[in-house]
Amino acid sequence: MGARWVLHLDMDAFFASAEQLTRPTLRDRPVMVGGLGPRAVVAGASYQARVFGARSAMPMGQARRLCPHAVVLPARFALYQALSERVMGVLADAAPVLEPVSLDEAFLEPPVLAGAAVADVERFGTELRAAVRDATGLPASVGAGSGKQLAKIASELAKPDGLRVVAAQEEQAVLAPLPVRALWGVGPVAEAGLRKLGVHTIGELAAMDLRELTGLLGTAIGTELHRLARGLDERPVAPRGAAKQVSAETTFDTDLTAMTAVHDAVARMTEAAHRRLLVSGRAARTVTVKVRSADFSTSSRSETAGSGSTDLDTLTAVAQRLARAAVPEGGVRLIGVSLAGLIDDPPPALFEPARLEAVPAEAPAPEPGDPGQQPTDGSAAIDTIARPWRPGDDVRHPKHGHGWVQGAGHGRVTVRFETCSTGPGRARTFAADDPDLVRADPLGSLD
Ligand SMILES: [Mg+2]
Repeated sequence: MGARWVLHLDMDAFFASAEQLTRPTLRDRPVMVGGLGPRAVVAGASYQARVFGARSAMPMGQARRLCPHAVVLPARFALYQALSERVMGVLADAAPVLEPVSLDEAFLEPPVLAGAAVADVERFGTELRAAVRDATGLPASVGAGSGKQLAKIASELAKPDGLRVVAAQEEQAVLAPLPVRALWGVGPVAEAGLRKLGVHTIGELAAMDLRELTGLLGTAIGTELHRLARGLDERPVAPRGAAKQVSAETTFDTDLTAMTAVHDAVARMTEAAHRRLLVSGRAARTVTVKVRSADFSTSSRSETAGSGSTDLDTLTAVAQRLARAAVPEGGVRLIGVSLAGLIDDPPPALFEPARLEAVPAEAPAPEPGDPGQQPTDGSAAIDTIARPWRPGDDVRHPKHGHGWVQGAGHGRVTVRFETCSTGPGRARTFAADDPDLVRADPLGSLD
């Protein structure tokens, strides 16, 4: 059997690229995906926004200060999920075994490449990138190496929209100058410990005495990292067992004593766990609430339903009911909410076009050009209640077709009519209550 070739494919700025794909006016512009609430974080940033320092997982407020001219759009998970399925379909055609890591990245180890020359791997990677672009219209980067670690590092080096194949004889040269954080399993704690020993790069780590490393990090992790640092990585590419639960918890600076405060905290934790549930593309049957009291005793309550749910209101109601039963006398120190019993193929409700919050009718309309209040994630109930148009909403007009709301306020709404296939479209302004303007499925922007 020849040398291994593992490939890692990673979509470039996936969420933001999906927005730019389906809303062509945004193609060369800084785009950030995420909410605008006080706790909102950036879920995705286009390369044009990254130039200014905006990054995924950064607080949205900070990102907007760095890049004030960026277009901020709410996440459209139904769209990202649909594009992800196309990507994974291409990869599954290319290799029998596929290990998805998230919506937009996966490992593969095509049997046809076992023992192949670098040129063959480059040809395969080039064709794979082209096939993904054909199927989605989106850029992907591909890295290849003798194991998963090297493939992952190579795809990072290939970005954006590139290919990097690390040949066996250049492994050491590629790995050695990288910071230790680039290795699997090196988090901030291990990094700090290594730094104290004067070890900053993978090359320095590879040169360490194994006993010194295991003394610092423990036998299992120390041994594994020492091997990875030298390019030795036999971990198989295999379909991964999906996460068994998604959860969120928080510890309070001062113990909560009021039930309303507990309810609010439970709602926030449910919302955070729900966001992870949506990203996983699954539905939850079990809700568990964990409560730690001021005296550090912990109790939890669980409830399991017959069918899975992705509805934030439903899950929050269950969690709050459970919290009422679990809250002790004398104050709450920590609250956690987990969603488990995760099942695939969530009900269609997850992919309803309008997964929106109800806004009271008297809510002030946002100023033109002001993105207004957006959901901080793809949360909340189906849109049965009228609410003002918000930037990023998908709409349909009998004459102009599919479009998206660019701005709204003062009884007017400005819509850009364009989709994946139209090229940059025209903006038109309507009365906000124009009956011809209806909410549309985000997937319509892929037509
Ligand atoms: Mg990516």
